[in-house]
Formats: sequence, structure tokens, C-alpha cells
Amino acid sequence: MPWKGEKNPYFIWLSEIILQQTRVEQGLPYFLNFKQKYPTVKHLAEAPEDEVMKLWQGLGYYSRARNLHETAKNIQTNHNGKFPSSFEELIKLKGVGDYTASAIASFAFSEIKAVVDGNVIRVLARVFGIDLPPDTTAGKKKFATLSQELIDEHEPGPYNQAIMDFGAVVCTPQNPGCDACPFQKFCVAYQQNRIDELPVKKKKIKIQERYFNYLVIKSKDEIYIRKRTDSDIWKNLYELPMFETSKPLKKNIKEAIAGYLTNNNFEITAYSEGSVQLLTHRKIHAQFIEIEPQSFKKFRAADAQKVKLTHLDNFAFPKTVHLYLKLKNLV
Ligand code: SF4
Repeated sequence: MPWKGEKNPYFIWLSEIILQQTRVEQGLPYFLNFKQKYPTVKHLAEAPEDEVMKLWQGLGYYSRARNLHETAKNIQTNHNGKFPSSFEELIKLKGVGDYTASAIASFAFSEIKAVVDGNVIRVLARVFGIDLPPDTTAGKKKFATLSQELIDEHEPGPYNQAIMDFGAVVCTPQNPGCDACPFQKFCVAYQQNRIDELPVKKKKIKIQERYFNYLVIKSKDEIYIRKRTDSDIWKNLYELPMFETSKPLKKNIKEAIAGYLTNNNFEITAYSEGSVQLLTHRKIHAQFIEIEPQSFKKFRAADAQKVKLTHLDNFAFPKTVHLYLKLKNLV
């Protein structure tokens, strides 16, 4: 991986933010694109927000991109473009939690700070037989304290990398490589045949179902889009004019649209197949309804703006909307 052995705190930070909640294969091209387009924190700080969001498009969890950009600006303005060099300072940066601050502090500045990620938790839970759920206060404290006790004070960076790699490659969630494992003799999970039980599983998260009704309002060369500005998912991304309903919209569709647009002068011309996008806590059901206003020129669509179809590719859209636009050959 290009970030292995990296000493530049900016690149470590970039890789860590990109890889949060993202598989390595998915995050890798994004890391390389960001690194190439913004080789220093100054380049990122000075980039327009829409450009940063566009480069992030498809990676999900968009608050990470907003925080990334905001933090770059903060470092540029308040730290003279120099990355803070201690855990205490790093943890104050927006979007930087314990894990990322520890990783930057230990890899770039050799600070004795243990990282605690899913891989580390799995190794420690099994070797030491810890049966506290890692997402509880007691569990978090236990894993953090134990990790800090175990860290190699002379080589904190390589130690952190080694235990994370060990969890990723040997002590894997399924079928760990116990046969060749040097911890086998004293690994509690192995000795007590409790490998499948440890670490204790997280509590199940309740999934919220949401129904987004998108309106496709376009002429030969223009289309309406809107920016999501509320504190909600996909903040600062663009989408088609949309209203949300608590259930799938199957009846009185025209009335519902007229209510949202406060306008009756249109006809519904087509529906898309509904699509579903699964997020961590939510399931987004999206339906696309094409409508034709009596006069596109005079038509106003709530908080939406008209843009040229040829410019559509400059905006960052959530995956569901982007896929629809692609299907219609609009991007
Ligand atoms: S013996 Fe198996 S479960 Fe225990 S640390 Fe090694 S790989 Fe993990």
C-alpha cells in the first residue's frame, strides 16, 4: 500500500480519513487521486469545495470530505500550513478521532500512542480473552489501556503497524491462521475454543427506511438540480429536486408533487424503477419521476436551480442519483 511506511503526516491523515469505513481496494484510487491533485495541505486548503466533493464522489460518508477540507483550511490558516505534531494537538482537528490522531502521532512523529482499530481489538480480545463489547464505555477503556501498556516505546510506529497487520492478515475475523500463530500457546480464545465468540459482537443498529422522490425536470439542454444544505446525509452534495415521504409514494402522486412544487402546471411523463442505497444506519429508497412543465422557461422548482446539461458532470451527486443520471446518459 502506498501509505505503508509513510512519514508525511498530511499523507497519513489523507489515507486514514479515506480508509475510515472504506475497503482498501475502494479507497486506494481515491487516495492516489487526492495525493496527485493536492500534493500538500495548502493545495487542498485552497481548492473549491465543489471540486473536493466531486473528487470524493462515490466514496460515501461525505462528512469526511467536508471535514477533510475544513481541517486543511484550518491547518493552513491557524498552523501556518504545518501539520500539528502531537496527539494532543491532532485530536483537536475536526474529523480526527483517537485512532487517526494516534496513527499520525506514532507514524510521523514517533509518539508513544497506541492505535486501536478493529484489527487491534480483535487480536487483543482473543489473545487476552476480553469479553467486553468494544463499543461500550468499559470496553473502549479496556482496549485503550491495554494497547497503551503493550506498545513498544522505542518503535511505536512499527509496533502499531505490526499489530494492525497481524489482525488484518493472520488473526482475521473468519478462519484465523492459528496453526502458524506464535501466540497460540497462550491465546485465551484459542486455548478455550472461543475464537468465534471474541471479540463480543457489537449491538445491532436499527436501520431507518427513508423514501426519496426525485423529480426529473429537464428541457433539451437544461435540468433542475438542488444542493443539499441541511444537516443530514449527503450535505453539500447535489441532487435532483426531491421531497421525502414516510412511505413509498404509490397513490396521489401528482398531488404530492404539486404540493412540493406549489405548482400544478406539469404532466408526469415517466417513472423509473425504484432503487435502494444502503448506508450504515439508513436504507434510502429512491424513485425518479420525470415531469414535463407546461412551460419549462417559466417553471420554478422550489429550492432548485437550472443548470446546463453539459455542465452536469461538474457537480458531485450521491451514488443513487449519479447512477440514475448515468443510466440516462446525462453524465
Ligand atoms: S491463536 Fe488464533 S485466535 Fe489466537 S491470536 Fe493467533 S490467530 Fe488469533
